[in-house]
Amino acid sequence: MNKIILLGTGCPSPSHIRFGPSTLISYQGVNLLIDAGSGVTQRLSEVGIQPSEINHILITHLHSDHIVDLYQLYISGWHTGRTETFKIHGPKGLKAFFETTLEAYNPELSLRRDWENRPNNSGLNYSVNEIDSTSVLTLEHISVNKIDVDHYPVEPAFGYEIKLDTTKVIYSGDTRYCKNLERASHNADYLIHEVLVDLPFNKTRMTEETVTNVTDYHTSPKEVGLLAENAKVKKLILNHFVPPVFNEEKLDREIKEHYSGEIVIGKDLLEINL
Ligand SMILES: [Zn+2]
Repeated sequence: MNKIILLGTGCPSPSHIRFGPSTLISYQGVNLLIDAGSGVTQRLSEVGIQPSEINHILITHLHSDHIVDLYQLYISGWHTGRTETFKIHGPKGLKAFFETTLEAYNPELSLRRDWENRPNNSGLNYSVNEIDSTSVLTLEHISVNKIDVDHYPVEPAFGYEIKLDTTKVIYSGDTRYCKNLERASHNADYLIHEVLVDLPFNKTRMTEETVTNVTDYHTSPKEVGLLAENAKVKKLILNHFVPPVFNEEKLDREIKEHYSGEIVIGKDLLEINL
């Protein structure tokens, strides 16, 4: 079945309703996963997909909420029978991050591998593609290009343009309002975009600077509406909600003031047929 599945629509704040950021695009038998947020393998299990069935993983940037379950995905893919190489694509720094994680777990994994004697140790092979050109992936029905987005001081940070035959899906990753993303989103069938709904000040865990800086490197409801309208996006799907619990009707109204297309307030496990 060809579909987009929102596996996790949350942010770093722990939530049992919105898990960490992760989105599956399943098309013509290929499973592309974007980001590996907290709980990704549990959400995959809820939609009946084994970690071993993921073919490629696209990482948007190296903030912890987007990569925290990468190792869990690697190991559980092997446990569930992956024989293929574990293939990750993402920004510079991803290889060092992944290999440092492997190193930390190496004593445990060596013991486990030797003791469990599984038939598919080839599933522990991995490749990390640190993306340095626009084109990331070209398959029979799918092509992926990276989009440079603006999540400064996190650099590089990517969005992705995913072409599924003639259908264009844009994934923002984390970014402030970004003209580059707006250009790439022109006439997109689907734009999956992050949004910072609200960040009320809480002096026990924030300074005034926390609020200013966190708000600054994300996109507001008004901005996401303007971007989608300017780009003539057909369907806007929101995810990566900060905070994970908010007034959904109010957000919908705020965006509608600026955008005339269809709005989907994303939820974990929401499936959109392609
Ligand atoms: Zn981020």
